Amino acid sequence: MIRIAIANQKGGVGKTTTAINLATALAATGWRVLLVDFDPQGNASTGLGVGQAARGRSSYELLRHDCTVEEAVIATQVPRLDLIPATQDLTGAEIELIDVEKRTHRLHHALEQQEDRWDVCLIDCPPSLGLLTVNALVAANMLLVPLQCEFFALEGLTQLLQTIERVRARFNPQLAILGVALTMYDRRNRLSEQVAADVRDVLGDVVFETVIPRNVRLSEAPSHGVPALIYDHRCPGSEAYIGLARECIARLTRKAQAA
Ligand code: ADP
Ligand code: MG
Repeated sequence: MIRIAIANQKGGVGKTTTAINLATALAATGWRVLLVDFDPQGNASTGLGVGQAARGRSSYELLRHDCTVEEAVIATQVPRLDLIPATQDLTGAEIELIDVEKRTHRLHHALEQQEDRWDVCLIDCPPSLGLLTVNALVAANMLLVPLQCEFFALEGLTQLLQTIERVRARFNPQLAILGVALTMYDRRNRLSEQVAADVRDVLGDVVFETVIPRNVRLSEAPSHGVPALIYDHRCPGSEAYIGLARECIARLTRKAQAA
């Protein structure tokens, strides 16, 4: 199972939107996909139509090893897409786990039990570089970083890269960057264009060619509890996520062949 953490310690950059729609696009190609909602806000769960009442066992219990993946997972309305939901309880996990041995490997060990049930697992990280994100980076073999096309896009990236280096050095040498996805690109705005060009200058090939446009359909879909790809599969946002999924598959295939 390929495990992709979707991380950026900034909030509101498109992590959850990317997690939901990339997961849906990958499932549409026939892959069996698991989405782990690892943000106490539970936006990925809500966006997939799994309300508070429907969240039985959650990523919090999974992290505490109070339940198995099998017990926590629920099927979504999207064929081949399963979800481990998140609840507010997850907020307390960082503190509760302080004294636990191997606290950085909790998610890794939990997911290990179910290596073959899914082709890919996406982990939607919270907006911080704390223990939850570190657990996701230890459990993952790939990292996808959404970057919002705004003036401070690259700010904070150094910190994120340092965290990745530390995780690689201490826990998970195989962690690789799958790519950086530019999000909320506004064609009518010269700043967006400038930021996208600057980011490509600095980061080069690691940036996906596909750019996710600012598209109101992407922000409307979660309130209907469905991925944009189901809400309106022909809107520019949905088309962009299909393109991103294609690029991800191509990169993953290349990496698998190189290995
Ligand atoms: P994060 O998970 O990084 O905090 P979200 O994916 O929740 O970010 O996005 C933050 C807000 O912006 C949400 O309200 C979401 O619906 C909206 N949003 C995300 N991507 C886009 C986009 N490409 N176009 C328009 N709105 C977007
Ligand atoms: Mg989010």
